[in-house]
Amino acid sequence: MSSTGKTIRELARELRTGATTPRVLLDEAMAHIGAVDSRVHAYLSLTRELAERQADGAARMLEERPDDASPLCGIPVALKDVLCVEDVETTAASRVLKGFRPPYTGTAVQRLFDAGAVCVGKTNCDEFAMGSSNENSAFGPVGNPWDVERVPGGSSGGSAATVAAGSVPYALGSDTGGSIRQPASLTGVVGFKPTYGRVSRYGLIAFASSLDQIGPLTRSVEDAALVYATIAGHDPRDSTSDPRALDDPVTALREGVAGMRLGVPREYFGSGIDPAVRASVEEAMRVLEALGATLQEVSLPTTDAGLSTYYIIAPAECSSNLARYDGVRFGLRVDDPSLTEMYMRTRDEGFGAEVKRRVMLGTYALSSGYYDAYYRKAQKVRTVIADEFTRVFQDVDALVCPTSPSVAFTMGEREDPLSMYMCDVVTLPVYLAGLPGISVPCGFIDGLPVGLQVIAPRFEDARVFRVAHAYEQATDWHTIRSPLAEVAA
Ligand code: GLN
Repeated sequence: MSSTGKTIRELARELRTGATTPRVLLDEAMAHIGAVDSRVHAYLSLTRELAERQADGAARMLEERPDDASPLCGIPVALKDVLCVEDVETTAASRVLKGFRPPYTGTAVQRLFDAGAVCVGKTNCDEFAMGSSNENSAFGPVGNPWDVERVPGGSSGGSAATVAAGSVPYALGSDTGGSIRQPASLTGVVGFKPTYGRVSRYGLIAFASSLDQIGPLTRSVEDAALVYATIAGHDPRDSTSDPRALDDPVTALREGVAGMRLGVPREYFGSGIDPAVRASVEEAMRVLEALGATLQEVSLPTTDAGLSTYYIIAPAECSSNLARYDGVRFGLRVDDPSLTEMYMRTRDEGFGAEVKRRVMLGTYALSSGYYDAYYRKAQKVRTVIADEFTRVFQDVDALVCPTSPSVAFTMGEREDPLSMYMCDVVTLPVYLAGLPGISVPCGFIDGLPVGLQVIAPRFEDARVFRVAHAYEQATDWHTIRSPLAEVAA
């Protein structure tokens, strides 16, 4: 197995003992990607030149001040192609941005680079992060490393798949309504979505600005905490970035779950959940109980409204955010003597079917005749959903439930958009309330991974890590690697 089948922690140790070097890790990652990516298609571009420069810089940092160097120093990372990196093509998996080279690097990514991270490439995703299966990429779908005929989940499917395949120890994804946790669950890795406002969105191509957050996909909960600690924190360039001080997520890992009260939301175990997924998650709850947590059933009665509320708010925001792709400023332009025709033809050729569907839904919901009936109503329901979580968190410290109603499905299986939207039924309400959450591997069904979801109150991100880490350390699901991780690079 390539050494990149290891965790960040393990590699950081090896870099310090001299067992490996940033250049060796980079070469191994690139070789592994070369060996598996024709099947997985996790990458839209590779950034070898940038990576070589960064690996050499990291080697210097490790040599000059090994004790001060970040645990991420010298370790390869892949970035979802919605994250801007200066002068590196960034497409959001859309034809409309083909050839776009951002003039700057976003804050979260810059913080990784400052810590000595080595960027191997930009990962495939659903177009503008709209989707749950990664089949909406304009440049072709991503295969799940556990079975390449199946989807890896979405929209951060490429980021999840490359970690699950064993090519890199971690990747960044973005999450609007499930796009980190759901693919993490379907590919058997850890995926963490921070509290809204914790990680700067500066340099993240916007889908729905009041929901979007950047977060890590990793092979262990501790690694997710390490990456989060590096990218989180106030950024004056993002007006929704929160100035509150950060609890140290890595220290919290050691606290364990003894004495914690964990809520089990009744509605998240309803009829839409595959019984085998439910059984795996119930088994995980028994593990948490054995570790000293108490479990208690709770109710979130407006769960049902989460999906419809999200599918008003997210398209409304996307219709506004995507108005900027008009052929004038970025990427694609389809020339026409008439300016209006040029706009229309650029957008027609540049956007895929799902993006167009959302722009139309959103424009409709925001139009003057329907604004009150749809958009304003959805915002009110969003407040009710958030209040419901606040009430439940008076009685419990965190919630545990499935991440996804099913394991990875076959490509092409869910053509009907509604059945695709159902993929996020258990992650969406959490997003509407801006809460932090994680998915951690908790079993397999017919060789396909299942994820346990842990949710905490806003700004209690450290608590999410604490529960997930305690569970992970008591089980060995996270140590089981996908068949592609064994492919010799
Ligand atoms: N699957 C959801 C959607 O299609 C969420 C996507 C996301 O979180 N970016 O909108």
